[in-house]
Amino acid sequence: MIQTRRLYYEDSYRKEFTARVMDCREGKRGWLILLDQTAFYPEGGGQPADHGLLFVTYPDACGEQEGKKKEDAALQLGIEVTDVHEKDGEILHRTQEPIPAGSLVIGQIDWERRFDLMQQHSGEHMVSGLIHSRFGYNNVGFHLGSDVVTIDFDGLLTAEDVKEIEANVNALIWENTPVEIFYPSPEELSVLDYRSKKELTQDVRIVRFPGADTCACCGTHVAGTGAVGMAKLLSVTGFREGVRIEMICGRRVLTYLNQINEQNHRISVRLSAKIDRTAEAVDRLAEENFQQKGRILTLEEEAFAAKAREQAGKGNVLLLERGLASDSVRKLCDTVMQTCGGRCAVFSENPDGSFKYAIGQKDADLRTLVKEMNQALSGRGGGKPFFVQGSVKASLAEIQTFWNQAAGDGTK
Ligand SMILES: [Zn+2]
Repeated sequence: MIQTRRLYYEDSYRKEFTARVMDCREGKRGWLILLDQTAFYPEGGGQPADHGLLFVTYPDACGEQEGKKKEDAALQLGIEVTDVHEKDGEILHRTQEPIPAGSLVIGQIDWERRFDLMQQHSGEHMVSGLIHSRFGYNNVGFHLGSDVVTIDFDGLLTAEDVKEIEANVNALIWENTPVEIFYPSPEELSVLDYRSKKELTQDVRIVRFPGADTCACCGTHVAGTGAVGMAKLLSVTGFREGVRIEMICGRRVLTYLNQINEQNHRISVRLSAKIDRTAEAVDRLAEENFQQKGRILTLEEEAFAAKAREQAGKGNVLLLERGLASDSVRKLCDTVMQTCGGRCAVFSENPDGSFKYAIGQKDADLRTLVKEMNQALSGRGGGKPFFVQGSVKASLAEIQTFWNQAAGDGTK
């Protein structure tokens, strides 16, 4: 077994390091590189693995030559590390290219990604710790996703409770207290009050956010609470016997704020509403829309009734309309078929050039005719024998031709 010195535990802010390749194994999805030391965090404790680059210097690089060779190495394109995981005590860096054992490499971790993960992970501890001490609930599930962090608790929280926790956690973040990480002896551990998913006895790594949380954890954390920046608890929903909280921290809060701000700005301009009055403006718009729909409905009913009087006794009729909603096509057809004394077909053009239709005739069986029409006009639809609705992909002329023929054919 190759033991790797874990530089990420000595300094969670280490972004670059030099290491010797101890072994290079062919894996299922690439090569697995083992180093004598690494700052790459292997996936664990809910925290995803680091990504980054390995630059190969010369196998014999050492001593004073190292600086020069570092420069040379920086000129190369690095070899991408796409995953890092621990297996049987060994830390494996996955790459798409082999690096011979004995090589000296410079490792560079994707710091933007890692720092984001640290902000989320530390923020999650603080929130979980505060909820534990305030309500006595346990964190029973944690997922550090690429968009949001979700935490599941085994008890219920109201939106008010979540607001309170959010205010408290941010107050503690802004106090910017140093985060403490220590390995207590079994005796110290036995009297320590800390959160843990399982029973632990030795080599326990404790991460403490003073005033918020003390928890056993193997992840990397910010040095002071201030680096979490801000924690925003986005939602709380029922989950199993408890709740699930969605949250974001640090830079993600800024990204989120920018998105929301951009959306709100567009609504504000469109509705000529002040930036903090957009919801009221949308409510007004929805109410106006509702009223207008009602008015349209009344006008349509009047228009359809007039049409029914106009078509009374005309036998088979074809009505070509524009811009009617499906429901209106159905209503017009239903109204006219009561008076025309034959078959009523209504077609209305859609914005994409296709037509929606409704065809009805009292006590008739239109199935054969509709089947023929759908074949002739690339249509589809269905309903009852005496009333069908659907759509066709055909031109106005094609629709007219079909219905003229159908009208001329006495058997239909
Ligand atoms: Zn943790």
